[in-house]
Amino acid sequence: MKPVFSVVVPMYNEEEVIGESLKRLTKVMIQAGQPYELLFVDDGSRDKSAQIVADASQKDESVKLIRFSRNFGHMAAITAGLDFALGDAVMIIDADLQDPPELFLEMIAKWREGFDVVYGQRSERKGETIFKKISANIFYRFIRAMTEVDMPVDTGEFRLIDRKVCDAIKGIREKSRYIRGLVSWVGFKQTAVHYIREKRFAGTTKYPLSKMIKFAIDAITAFSYKPLKAATQLGMGISVLSFFYLIYVLWQKLFTTSTTPGWASMVAIITFSQGIVLMVLGLIGEYIGRIFEEVKGRPIYLVQEFIGSETKDGGSANARA
Ligand code: UDP
Ligand code: MG
Repeated sequence: MKPVFSVVVPMYNEEEVIGESLKRLTKVMIQAGQPYELLFVDDGSRDKSAQIVADASQKDESVKLIRFSRNFGHMAAITAGLDFALGDAVMIIDADLQDPPELFLEMIAKWREGFDVVYGQRSERKGETIFKKISANIFYRFIRAMTEVDMPVDTGEFRLIDRKVCDAIKGIREKSRYIRGLVSWVGFKQTAVHYIREKRFAGTTKYPLSKMIKFAIDAITAFSYKPLKAATQLGMGISVLSFFYLIYVLWQKLFTTSTTPGWASMVAIITFSQGIVLMVLGLIGEYIGRIFEEVKGRPIYLVQEFIGSETKDGGSANARA
């Protein structure tokens, strides 16, 4: 039976939580009272995550599994989920139960009222480090200031989107995928539901600092070229200042007797300007690197195996099986 609801769950080494997520998601979706599918996307886990879902799908045909050939990242996993989802409404949720599945019922009610996107907005985050809370807080506000798209703050991927929004996102194949940004970008009728972000049910974060930084740079560069503009302005500002300084130095040399040793200021200026030049070059590099990624045109993810009763083509994605 064609599902009305598709729940997309990206997972990466989540064996400690996946059983519990399955339980809670199934319970909520039964309460929703219409055919549904739980689409788990295994992003190259090296633990038993995929096995647990595969076993569950033997017993429950609404449980489906997309297995990547390796770790492609959280955003790629969600993308695959959206690509495979069959429902009229598609919900996205992390595997770790930080976002309460029970909120789906509220989201579904809003969807029935006619909203096309219902996103979860965190009013509080529990059980996360002070560093994560502060960095997340700054991140959302910074992104909002940097981009022309109206992106709600404190909002992750936890949301419900209508089929037409899902199709719109599916049509966007850019590589640095900041999905919450893309959902804002496509528009349609959007609304929020508020919730408290719990601590992880089990396991540890799969977003170490290095991934968080890459994620933040991806988000900014994908939606804004303001950093490039700022670099130009910075460069211009510094040139103007240096010009006046040069005049001052010449004036000192020609019309006064004071001879400055000048070594300290020289070094300061050189290192400062070199730093700026390198920073701006790096910034340009970030954009060029992303252009390079786009131009190569490689797929966003590769599927190794699909386990489930039905795919978008009506057959198994695994040709060998
Ligand atoms: N995740 C993924 N691939 C990755 C990293 C994370 O599919 O490379 C999944 C992870 O299993 C979880 C979700 O993305 O379901 C969010 O990750 P996590 O909870 O570790 O991030 P945090 O909540 O700490 O920001
Ligand atoms: Mg989490």
